[in-house]
Amino acid sequence: MIDTPLSLLSETSRCSRCGACLAVCPIYGLTLDESLSARGKVALAEAEQQGLLAVTPRFKETFSACLLCGACEAACASGVGGVDTVLEQRARVSARGLLSLVSLGFKAGRPFMDVAAKAGSLAQELMNLGAEPGSGLLVRLTNLTKSGPRKFPELARTPFLRQNKGKRGKSKPTGSMRVAFFVGCGLNYLFPKAVHSVIRLLDSAGVEVVVPEGQHCCGMLIHTAGDPEAAKWLAWRNVDALLREDAAKVVTGCATCSSFFNRRYPELLGTNELPEVIDVASFLAGLGTLPEVADKPGIPLIYHDPCHLKISQGVESEPRDLLARFGYSTVEIPGESFCCGFGGTLNITDYPLSAGILEERMAGIAQVAKDAIGIATGCPGCLIQLGEGVWKTGLNLPVRHTVEWLADAVFEVTNKSV
Ligand code: SF4
Ligand code: SF4
Repeated sequence: MIDTPLSLLSETSRCSRCGACLAVCPIYGLTLDESLSARGKVALAEAEQQGLLAVTPRFKETFSACLLCGACEAACASGVGGVDTVLEQRARVSARGLLSLVSLGFKAGRPFMDVAAKAGSLAQELMNLGAEPGSGLLVRLTNLTKSGPRKFPELARTPFLRQNKGKRGKSKPTGSMRVAFFVGCGLNYLFPKAVHSVIRLLDSAGVEVVVPEGQHCCGMLIHTAGDPEAAKWLAWRNVDALLREDAAKVVTGCATCSSFFNRRYPELLGTNELPEVIDVASFLAGLGTLPEVADKPGIPLIYHDPCHLKISQGVESEPRDLLARFGYSTVEIPGESFCCGFGGTLNITDYPLSAGILEERMAGIAQVAKDAIGIATGCPGCLIQLGEGVWKTGLNLPVRHTVEWLADAVFEVTNKSV
């Protein structure tokens, strides 16, 4: 018998069955399967708590099928934590064997993850053999999935943290501002150029930046896979590494990391005495010291809101304002679809579902693609997913982190060269 935590009981008992969450859930919208909505999941969790339902493989799959986008929570007048319910259930029913091994890998830290990434990089090179020249940054996984061809960004040959542990920006302490940068796994292994862009931008604004040694994965992946204890272990080590730097704020370029720090660390660690973590777009938007860009040509750029920025943290206007300050005019994506479908681990655990949601998002992007030079977003998961989306739909749009587009504008790299 699995113990039911009080927090889960309180979530399920608050649900009035009003159905407001159904209207906003991308998974319900795609499948029309109520068991996959927040209302359905809450009802299933309650039935299982009351001993009316057994934990079957189908039951586990139902709780796997969630993007953790938070739209249900934002729409719920009763304050039911749809994401909390999913995470609690996953933690209670996840299979321990393989998960424990994965957790050990995360706890082993960067050296272990670097070796795994290196092995992945070699495997990518092998899989790329025979791919047309110039398909470059993405790898074909045609034969490894039942879902047809897939593309995935190239793993960085040199992860950012391997070469830049303890890196400091060029700006000297001015007494005004010193920040610590939390890199996160996605930017470290897949998008190190984005980290270099952040450091250049902060340098140019006279902000002292340091990349603290001893930073681990934020813990989101292992937490959403069902091991909050391992996430807690990682959280303590990150807090320790970040506090050592005595920085005014912690800045990160990963929407999921900042969301996880701000929402989950206090509950995992049982304290609010934690470093203030802020998304890089919000931080830069509040700086008055970034260099001015004299010529503001209004270059059209599609902006995609990561769920973990817009819904979880209310960061919506800041990236748009920032892009406008540096010569871009934001092109909005039409339609009701809002999530790219990456969904933490959903892209791996249920690719057809993840791909179906991506398809809806890409239909909106396709409508405005001819008006824009590329896509900006602020989350590595979205970068991966939308990168695959433009490849699948044949759109000629580079997908890059917001800070990379900003660095182009500030350091006068012509956008034609992108
Ligand atoms: S919106 Fe909230 S109260 Fe209404 S059905 Fe969904 S989870 Fe329950
Ligand atoms: S978090 Fe998103 S995908 Fe999951 S149930 Fe809520 S709205 Fe649906």
